[in-house]
Amino acid sequence: MATYDLAIRGGEVIDPATGTRGQLDVAIRNGRVEAVAAGIPAEAARETYDATGHLVVPGLIDFHTHVYHGATYWGIDPDPVASRTGVTTWVDAGSAGATTWPAFRDWCIRPARARVVAFLNISTSGLASATHELAALENLDPDLCARTIAANPGILVGVKVRMGAPDLNPHGLEPLRRAITAAEATGLPVMVHLGMAPPSIDDVVALLRPGDSITHAFNGNSMGMTASDGTIRPAVAAAWDRGMVVDIGHGAGGFSFLVAEAMLAQGRPPDVISTDLHQLAVNGPAFDLPTVMSKFLALGMGLEAVVACATSAPARALGRDDLGTLRPGALADVAIFSLDQGEFAYYDVRGVRRDGTSRLRNVATFVGGARLHPLPPSIPALWMAPSDLQRRVAAAGHVPAGYRWPYGA
Ligand SMILES: [Zn+2]
Repeated sequence: MATYDLAIRGGEVIDPATGTRGQLDVAIRNGRVEAVAAGIPAEAARETYDATGHLVVPGLIDFHTHVYHGATYWGIDPDPVASRTGVTTWVDAGSAGATTWPAFRDWCIRPARARVVAFLNISTSGLASATHELAALENLDPDLCARTIAANPGILVGVKVRMGAPDLNPHGLEPLRRAITAAEATGLPVMVHLGMAPPSIDDVVALLRPGDSITHAFNGNSMGMTASDGTIRPAVAAAWDRGMVVDIGHGAGGFSFLVAEAMLAQGRPPDVISTDLHQLAVNGPAFDLPTVMSKFLALGMGLEAVVACATSAPARALGRDDLGTLRPGALADVAIFSLDQGEFAYYDVRGVRRDGTSRLRNVATFVGGARLHPLPPSIPALWMAPSDLQRRVAAAGHVPAGYRWPYGA
């Protein structure tokens, strides 16, 4: 009689959380990982998946996404992307605030096949509109934010605030202070978006506690991590060394190859690699998490380190030891990848191009031991138009395998 529901056999397992790498099989039962071992016989499982020649990694955690679709400016449906990218846990970064949260939970998160957890925006409205959620201080209610989080344990995982640009945030550091107040009341971290100064990045990171994160960290904007000579700002280095989490949050405006190269040259790879996937990023040049991970491979980061940045590191930042690992007992979220070899062009948000020789291509994705079957790509929202950079990248054919440009030729 079969012991397991599913055995994923013959692949090369990479599980940074446990330091495991090798030709191993993964056995799954009741939605959890049961064993990772060599030579698990096919007869031991009701179903088998042949992963020969492929990488078998924990289901990816995308630490910065926007998946409140249908009710916010940025939101996309995670399921069509999940099934072709191996992203099994989507961390929404503040799309909902306290008053827009219940619909997000009930109408987007619960029906999704991928897992979704969320940072709650300190602004009660969240990101219903593209910008200006911080315009009125009376909509930044730390008590209501904290009570909403307390009423939704395990699914709300922290507080989000977008900092920067006086036309968008006329209140300086006050929104961040209120976000930290709410976070302290719940024992959870804040995630801070870095936009355009002021305020200065030095003043922002000085307020952050260990476990709080900055996203769009390698942005190359006026709230960048580096001084004009490319060296890391001392205040940022100090906050990072105190335990601040440094997250990529690529998006449409948050990732510069020049900053990434400077940081890697200084021995400062990111803690977390994420996409900031939203309506303006999903059609390039971010595209999806395997593509953003592949950009770091092109910059010379090692495969295990890159996988860690999208599995064990975000799991740690979320305080979850049942995600982002294939340790027995963990949720059976598994992503199977081909590491394609060839010549691949990658672009940052300014159109700076770097060429790489490998690309992670997802070939199968399992959530809780169940296969996510492919879905057609979502149609872009009516308020979206492709950017010149997106058109250029698509016209050059530099899109991930299996990807379909949604705007016509
Ligand atoms: Zn975002």
